[in-house]
Amino acid sequence: MSYQTLYRRWRPQAFAEVTGQEHVARTLQNALEQGRVAHAYLFCGPRGTGKTSVAKILAKAVNCLNGPAREPCNNCSFCQDIGASRLLDVLEIDAASNRGIDEIRELREKVRYAPVEARRKVYIIDEVHMLTTEAANALLKTLEEPPAHVLFILATTEPHRLPATVVSRCQRLDFKLISFAGIMERLRTVAGELDRKVSEAALQIIAEEAAGGLRDALSLFEQALAYAESDVTENDVLSVLGSVGRDVFYDFTAAILEGDLSAALLIVNDVSSAGRDLQHFTQQAIAYYRDLMVVLSCREEAELLGIAPEWADRLAGQGKAMGLALVARALSVFHDLSAEIRWSTRPRLLWELAVFRLLGIGGETLPGLEQVTQTGKTDTGKRAEEAAETPDLRQMSRMWPRILEQVKRESIQAHALLLEAELCGCAGQVLQIGFKSDFHREMMEKPEYKQLLGTAVKTVLGYGAGVHCTQLGSLGKDAQEKKMSQEEIVDTAAEIFGGKIMANDAGR
Ligand SMILES: [Zn+2]
Repeated sequence: MSYQTLYRRWRPQAFAEVTGQEHVARTLQNALEQGRVAHAYLFCGPRGTGKTSVAKILAKAVNCLNGPAREPCNNCSFCQDIGASRLLDVLEIDAASNRGIDEIRELREKVRYAPVEARRKVYIIDEVHMLTTEAANALLKTLEEPPAHVLFILATTEPHRLPATVVSRCQRLDFKLISFAGIMERLRTVAGELDRKVSEAALQIIAEEAAGGLRDALSLFEQALAYAESDVTENDVLSVLGSVGRDVFYDFTAAILEGDLSAALLIVNDVSSAGRDLQHFTQQAIAYYRDLMVVLSCREEAELLGIAPEWADRLAGQGKAMGLALVARALSVFHDLSAEIRWSTRPRLLWELAVFRLLGIGGETLPGLEQVTQTGKTDTGKRAEEAAETPDLRQMSRMWPRILEQVKRESIQAHALLLEAELCGCAGQVLQIGFKSDFHREMMEKPEYKQLLGTAVKTVLGYGAGVHCTQLGSLGKDAQEKKMSQEEIVDTAAEIFGGKIMANDAGR
């Protein structure tokens, strides 16, 4: 069973099955019932919240032989063909994978023709913000005077990147992150259909990690099922994630609160000796203190923000003991650490230094709440928000082996090239791939390889991505800055231990 099958199998087929987007479903169902379906919809919202699923349900509902009605029948030939993506009159365009130039050109030529068989021609354009300016302009021309038989459904995770002219031509519907409870409900339903036992704690970790995206939840669930021997436990899910349990951070924080240096260092030692990736461990630490901050500042929102209720209680207790200033302090320390640790050959030392800083060893004192600015946010709070954006890369790194596997199926050569490369970032849905060798980088620049990688990302993660190849040497400036801060760290270490720097690898 491929790990994508859960999502496919459980993809909602009717409005009533869509989780967490009742407001969207109601609007569309009313329009269907009153025969007032618009010519263009813009579905906005985070990934994995059901935009393309709803687009397909709407495409079925307007074309259903037993409709149009509030729900598609899912039995007639149109419903079946649309469900299987084989109806010529319903076109799905992924703007991210090739930026849509050819498709939009073709669309402009063919949009005037009446549908071949169906009632309405439906164009579903996913990741529409990724269209090139040229393609977006072409789309706009079509949107300005849409033929009566055409229905456009544009979907995007980043509506602010769309030209206002495009947005204003569409009826906008916003998809929300799905609540922790909503995702748990769905996971329990899926688990109930399986002939394997899945622990509640395992489901909770999956739901938390998914952070409001149902597709992520289901694909993580599928991975855990593939990984576990028989029943799926909390540890199976943590292993798939390469994560440690939240208990570890709870104990770590308790040690910090008690000022117990050796207990805190022992925990770092255990995690490091177990071969855990300390970079990922740092991200988890940030997530933990962010959760503490959330629970402290808006307890009732915790569940909505994806924290299991049992944990929200425990976190609230620890958060109170810690106080907002220390939580902010921890976030600041770990945020700095996450920037430094990436480039370090001694991640464990950096972690140990972070422990010292948290305990105020080395002359640093805890900041007071007077740092709260007029906007009501502490500087560290703002930094915490930035740090919270990194799960993109984290998720991408986690899925990277699967993406490579997918590439390998299509091209051994592209796969071999990517084995030489390093995933450096994924800002704005563009993957940054770093190569040590300029030769390899040039080889990878081939459009067919880049597209192949983009398609592999789409297959694995459900959304497409652009690819940008860089030479690792050319990251020089950035790396230099990081290196500087490593030197500062060494200085700090020397200060703390009262030692002298004899020599260091920076060759100063
Ligand atoms: Zn039908």
